Amino acid sequence: MSSSRPPLLALDDALQRLLAAARTLADPESVSTFDADGRVLAQDLVSELHVPPQDNSSMDGYAVASADLSRTGTVLTVTQRIAAGTSGQPLHSGQAARIFTGAPIPPGADAVVMQEDCQTVGEPTAGAPALVRINAVPAPGQWIRRAGEDVTRSSVVLARGARLSPPSLGLAAGIGFDRLSVVRRPRVALFSTGDELVMPGAVAPADMPPGAIYNSNRYFLRAMLLRLGCEVSDLGIVPDKRQATLDALRSAASQHDLILTSGGVSVGEEDHIRPAVMALGALDLWQIAMKPGKPFAYGHVGPCHFIGLPGNPVSSFVTFAVLVRPFLLRLQGASELAATASLARADFDWLRPDGRREFLRVRRNGGGGLDLFANQSSGVLTSAVWGDGLVDNPSGTAIGRGDQVRYLAFADLLS
Ligand code: AMP
Ligand code: MG
Repeated sequence: MSSSRPPLLALDDALQRLLAAARTLADPESVSTFDADGRVLAQDLVSELHVPPQDNSSMDGYAVASADLSRTGTVLTVTQRIAAGTSGQPLHSGQAARIFTGAPIPPGADAVVMQEDCQTVGEPTAGAPALVRINAVPAPGQWIRRAGEDVTRSSVVLARGARLSPPSLGLAAGIGFDRLSVVRRPRVALFSTGDELVMPGAVAPADMPPGAIYNSNRYFLRAMLLRLGCEVSDLGIVPDKRQATLDALRSAASQHDLILTSGGVSVGEEDHIRPAVMALGALDLWQIAMKPGKPFAYGHVGPCHFIGLPGNPVSSFVTFAVLVRPFLLRLQGASELAATASLARADFDWLRPDGRREFLRVRRNGGGGLDLFANQSSGVLTSAVWGDGLVDNPSGTAIGRGDQVRYLAFADLLS
């Protein structure tokens, strides 16, 4: 009865509805900076010092006053030696300081001459100061790293909502933070639906009954959740009984922020989870104008969110990447939700586009263009393994060889 079908929901509208329902989880927690990779900051990090704290040398050599050195070959008296971790005395006219990388520039010096451009004069003897010939004319400021050139005192170095990366952990440590306040991890309960599903390990491939398939979604969904910083309770396949399903959902809802399922959201499909969610809370079935991944469910059981992904592995994978990922980042208070798309050249033809927005599995080639995986069926998970990203193709848009297309890298979508 196609005439009674509701209109498809645009993907951007679906995303907006999902994000509108997501609130940042309360109760931030304090974690060691060592353990904060991938977490989202719950506080602004303000620096109480300059980094670097003082002007310092970026070379091994001699600290000098450039005004003393208008010509090459000038000889200066070496009056001090400044290693990293020590500090020097004021430098006077005609003097140089032996200096090493990272050591503070003494007052009176305004340049460093690298040791390759310097020559000690004679043998240093007890009582007589060493002399150095400077074989270069330094520019003022040369080989000096300025105080505060990395971080200035009182500045916000990392803002609340920043997702921490290895370099940001280094930066946080560099301004003295050994612990960080981060949003707690979302707790996610993962269910699979479908009587055809068998867990690998439970039945050997040779003994698989007719119609049975292994549960592959559970493996990649769990891995994607973990990469996004979630705590995952893998609750397996819910027992095939109404009361057991209600009990399982009620108990999961009291201990989790999100119940995520795959399968069983196609129109008219029989399964227990959907009516059980409707009985305990609310559930909307959306038909999203995207391919793969049209059927999608969003609802809640009490305060716990419920998301139902389509069962086809590629549909499940793609809807997770473009809808669930930003939703989970919003729960964690992240300021950046969308993966950045770039423009890339299509080295393929796609002449029969769908009326829905399409996400094509592609791979970058050595020539800077994109190749298309030949089988774009939503059941063919090989396409997502062969590929390294998706082309986000607007509805009804044919692609010709050489066209610029929007490319989303899996490296971004899976982190
Ligand atoms: P459904 O959305 O439940 O109609 O499922 C669509 C297709 O995806 C069917 O062919 C299912 O057998 C398959 N499928 C559903 N769940 C899984 C799963 N966890 N792993 C692999 N395939 C699945
Ligand atoms: Mg099913």
